[in-house]
Amino acid sequence: MQRYDIPLVPGPVSVPEAVRAAYQVDYGSADLEDEFFELYRACEEGLRQILATGNQIAILSGEGMLALWGALKSVVRPGDRVLAVATGVFGYGIGDMARQIGAEVETVGFGYDDVADPDQVREAARRFRPRLITAVHCETPSGTLNPLAEIGQICREVDALFYVDFVASAGGTPVWVDEWQIDLGLLGSQKVLSLMPDLAMVSVSERAWAAIEEVGYAGYDALQPWRRAVAERYLPYTHNWHALAGLRVAIDSLLNEGLEAAFERHATVAAVCRRRLQEMGVALWPRRESICAPTVTAARVPEGWSWPELDQALRRRGMAVGGSYGPLAGQVFRIGHMGSQADMALVERGMDVLAEVLAAGPAGG
Ligand SMILES: *Cc1c(COP(=O)(O)O)cnc(C)c1O
Repeated sequence: MQRYDIPLVPGPVSVPEAVRAAYQVDYGSADLEDEFFELYRACEEGLRQILATGNQIAILSGEGMLALWGALKSVVRPGDRVLAVATGVFGYGIGDMARQIGAEVETVGFGYDDVADPDQVREAARRFRPRLITAVHCETPSGTLNPLAEIGQICREVDALFYVDFVASAGGTPVWVDEWQIDLGLLGSQKVLSLMPDLAMVSVSERAWAAIEEVGYAGYDALQPWRRAVAERYLPYTHNWHALAGLRVAIDSLLNEGLEAAFERHATVAAVCRRRLQEMGVALWPRRESICAPTVTAARVPEGWSWPELDQALRRRGMAVGGSYGPLAGQVFRIGHMGSQADMALVERGMDVLAEVLAAGPAGG
């Protein structure tokens, strides 16, 4: 398999050596050993700091989608009303997921190059009276960052729970779970944390726990058992000790750097990425630079190029970036500068290669 020297895919991102080393250890049984439960608690405490919350955090074994599905099924019953705030593939997709589990869903939809307008969300919330309002912080496929604080406020006004996918933002930009009144906050391991795609984390407020107990959903992805699993040392399944050992390395690295410094690193690298693209005449996908995410940059595939041609030309020079999905497939490509890839030297090299490729043209080989 080819490894690319310039890894700039927006997740899964490149896994640092220290994390990979944590997997090379033969641990004991996660169900039995005190050490595992100490590790779990330390990871939960670190995640609380990263997410600025006092809420309990359930750390599940599985890819990030497990958090999205598990949290939804744990609080929504067939017939419940869900208001999906959608500005991209994940926002609209979460509305579809709620529909699939039988919820009555209304979508407050915006363009894929736009962010949510709280006034429109408030109007819909007051009229529709949902049990749950869903939103996405960073829309990874289109490179935008939604403002969340006011939507959190709206949830309180209409007594709805606030469900937020911050899989591709937390750790790279402020996510203030308590201040923004997020009841169910969803995180995956393979984005900013730069781990393998094997953990899904959910911050759960007391209001959310009450809803979870009321619904009583049981299943592999259910949140309910996690309320007491660690306190009672009775996990719903054998946990992934290796993944938690990696998570601890990632959390320590982020907290040792300092959250403010890490946020600054992401913001600076993203700004340089956008400036370099614009200097090459590549148009950013979101119309307004103020709504661009600090973890991923989406740009239009330049005129004269198809996405597969551009992708192949970059790969021939050792650089891997992402395409896009849904309505943006083929039109938009993406540079992932989150976690281990929020690295100025790496992004500058990537931009140098892109400039060379564009100068040579589609026939340039
Ligand atoms: C990556 C990501 C997820 C997890 O889904 P994948 O299966 O890894 O694509 C969920 N939400 C967002 C916003 C993401 O970027």
